[in-house]
Amino acid sequence: MDGISCDRCSKSLLIDEEVRYQVKVVVQAAYDPMEISTTDLEKTSPDSWKSLLKKLENLSAEEAQDQVYREINFDLCPPCQKIYLTKPIPDTDVFGSSNSSGSGMST
Ligand SMILES: [Zn+2]
Repeated sequence: MDGISCDRCSKSLLIDEEVRYQVKVVVQAAYDPMEISTTDLEKTSPDSWKSLLKKLENLSAEEAQDQVYREINFDLCPPCQKIYLTKPIPDTDVFGSSNSSGSGMST
């Protein structure tokens, strides 16, 4: 169980930290049949589906898989976990989200 380090700051997690956080990011295409409404289908022209399929044909199996489903796992030390939660996606600010239940931080 040695050799585990924070994927953000590279700090060794088992030696210096009692607590570590595992982050599991799942990126999946949102055209799950359960989520497609009639409105979505009306907005989506057959041509856009054709072009999507055409794009997939030109990809390797691995690239096509990445476009549909990708799972990323990493470990974070507590300080990096806090930082990560404020900015799960680079160049965005989760506190700008309208449904944020944050601490009401203001600038
Ligand atoms: Zn870290």
